[in-house]
Amino acid sequence: MTEATAALKPRVLRMHSLDNVAIVVNDGGLPAGTTIDGGLVLRDKVPQGHKVALQDLAQGHAVIRYNVPVGYARQAIAAGSWVHERLLDIPPARELQGLPMASVKALPQDRLEGYTFEGYVNANGAVGTRNLLGITTTVQCVAGVVKIAVERIERELLPLFPNVDGVVGLEHTYGCGVAIDAPGAEIPIRTLRHISLNPNFGGEVMVVSLGCEKLQPDRLLPPGSFPIQDAREKDQGPDLVCLQDDAHVGFMSMIEHIVQSARPHLERLNARQRQTVPASELVVGVQCGGSDAFSGVTANPAVGFMADLIVRAGGTVMFSENTEVRDAVEQLTSRAATPEVAEAIVRELGWYDRYLERGRVDRSANTTPGNKAGGLSNIAEKAMGSIIKSGTSAIAHVLPPGEKLRPDQKGLVFAATPASDFICGTLQLAAGMNLHVFTTGRGTPYGLAECPVIKVATRSDLAHRWHDLMDMNAGRIADGEISIEEAGWELFRMLLDVASGRQTWAERWKLHNALVLFNPAPIT
Ligand code: CA
Repeated sequence: MTEATAALKPRVLRMHSLDNVAIVVNDGGLPAGTTIDGGLVLRDKVPQGHKVALQDLAQGHAVIRYNVPVGYARQAIAAGSWVHERLLDIPPARELQGLPMASVKALPQDRLEGYTFEGYVNANGAVGTRNLLGITTTVQCVAGVVKIAVERIERELLPLFPNVDGVVGLEHTYGCGVAIDAPGAEIPIRTLRHISLNPNFGGEVMVVSLGCEKLQPDRLLPPGSFPIQDAREKDQGPDLVCLQDDAHVGFMSMIEHIVQSARPHLERLNARQRQTVPASELVVGVQCGGSDAFSGVTANPAVGFMADLIVRAGGTVMFSENTEVRDAVEQLTSRAATPEVAEAIVRELGWYDRYLERGRVDRSANTTPGNKAGGLSNIAEKAMGSIIKSGTSAIAHVLPPGEKLRPDQKGLVFAATPASDFICGTLQLAAGMNLHVFTTGRGTPYGLAECPVIKVATRSDLAHRWHDLMDMNAGRIADGEISIEEAGWELFRMLLDVASGRQTWAERWKLHNALVLFNPAPIT
């Protein structure tokens, strides 16, 4: 088939085998009279991204997409018709009362055995995908000094320690000028603590503080919260450089002190080797940003299939983004593994509802004219396009923002975070993420210094234009080249390669977005 005839071939995509609608993927949509797969003839012109009925739907019949009702037929809809939002009665936006709790038994899935990657096993059993020295900071005041010290460590020390992948100054804007005892302040503080303990930093904790800041080192890392590498640390807390120490005479003595402090950490990190570990050691954070009408059609369903594979392999997948899942909350509570997990989902989303109300904003997830033009009939359908990244497994755990997963918390996790790309990524790092998967339709060059980010394009034109920024092209699903399942397997295998050391494009170009803390407490 030539490219031109391939482009003309009518293509529709069904998100789930039980769906009674499919999505038209051709540019410009498909005209009435077109015969689609299975011999069905379109009765109407159906725009790109919109739904076509695959069977006759009686009045009141549920319209099923993602194996979920996204509306109810307001009148009889014949097979081959365009199912636009004026034909649908919309499921009402859900309050947080009277939800179905752990009511759906996830289909049993065969355990996947034999998949492995080459990772760095830490003393506490967690596994890193990169071997990095993280330099924790207590306050933004020290950021400039740490940046220059990191440059010197990279220039002078890293060449001596070839097994170490890099040095990361954990810069942030917290630490002083904040209401540190206010309700909510524990979120940014525990986020910073837990990022210091991310598996990609090998259990080495090194802190640079100013001295007079509100967030003192022993509040950031109280005794018992960090691994002891050095006899000294037992009594004195983590390895600490305090810039206001009397011993520092002049700027260069601060730099020298930080550089010399880094050396024993680098020596220990350098002695580590990658070793073969089961895929169950993956802790994958998924999110989307710069979404388009194809996010919920190509990339997010492929990520969902991959998420099921990770869970079947015994690993951990986190999905997040409160405001993007809120309007299909009953899909989350019903999929919870236990009533306790369902209650935790309600608790986190309820807390977030009240947080938004305090700021006098609603969640604004009602469909926009742009969403409707793109084929999304209502808020539940829009939210399902995001939730589909989580696959079909039962939700095993819920993690509040800034908290860290315990080693026994495997499987599918709802890590409750804002949808902001940087804040979500920062909180997933704190949770213990060792691999990040990010889908985008409009395109974003997002990347993190702390963890590899695999970026998945929703459309082929983005993947082609940004050929050295996108790691995978899920647009091939819309082009008819691969199925959602094949894309999910491809992504799963790519994850194992990247976890074993293969660089992503964001790593190749050193694209590092800032850590952005979620701080619901006041600034002073
Ligand atoms: Ca996002």
